[in-house]
Amino acid sequence: MANSPTPPRTVNLPLRPLAIAASPWSHPSRRYDPIGEPANTVLHAYYSALFATLGPQHWWPGRSRFEIVVGAILTQNTSWKNVERAVANLRAAKLLTPAAIRAVSSRALAKHVRPSGYFRQKTKTLKIFAAFLFARHSGSLRRLFATPTCILRDQLLALRGIGPETADAILLYAGKHPVFVVDAYARRILERHALLSAQATGDSRRSYEHIRSLVESQLPRDHQLLNEFHALIVHTGKLHCRKSNPLCVSCPLQCFLPLASGRQDLVAAS
Ligand code: SF4
Repeated sequence: MANSPTPPRTVNLPLRPLAIAASPWSHPSRRYDPIGEPANTVLHAYYSALFATLGPQHWWPGRSRFEIVVGAILTQNTSWKNVERAVANLRAAKLLTPAAIRAVSSRALAKHVRPSGYFRQKTKTLKIFAAFLFARHSGSLRRLFATPTCILRDQLLALRGIGPETADAILLYAGKHPVFVVDAYARRILERHALLSAQATGDSRRSYEHIRSLVESQLPRDHQLLNEFHALIVHTGKLHCRKSNPLCVSCPLQCFLPLASGRQDLVAAS
């Protein structure tokens, strides 16, 4: 599982101003639809409730699109703090460009990447990504991200070391493609709210695709909304929907807990 970053105070991904519109929901936390469309699906209502309570999350931290790609690769199986240390090393060594990653030796790159853990594998993945970028897209991120979403997703997934969560984080946050990033927090919240079918449980590649389709089918294909939704879910997962002892009472999603699903034990436990 990739660990998602803790959002910083300053970011370089400006979000367009969000229109506020009244929605048909009666619960106060469901009164607004930040993209100006009625919340007419369950997950859109979740999104509206989270956004109304927590506001914009300003993801993903990174000074450039390539830095976001690097962060998405390095964050696999480690904390964001460790990623920040590795990225700072790369910045200091002027290695935060595709050309620099391609040119540097694996040995030197590994030294800088080391704080992020699994550094040998991550060094390989960075080199593989840079080689792919030059071989298929002339070294241009603009060309890379101009590729249609499903084609680019397949290309990324074919690269060794890039799984669906990393591919989707790259597509969404660096490329502004409208895909949903499925992580452990999303799985946990959807499971606890009894929104996942049997096919979508567990953490196989198949279940990943089920959850991704479920979420994408219920939300507008808007990269900004999907960006916010993933960030809001991570915020909720870290603060409220913890692995044990979830804090349902103070959670913006508490009003959506299904009464008949047995999940009231979570409210009682919080
Ligand atoms: S209401 Fe409880 S189960 Fe639902 S997301 Fe919040 S903490 Fe998790």
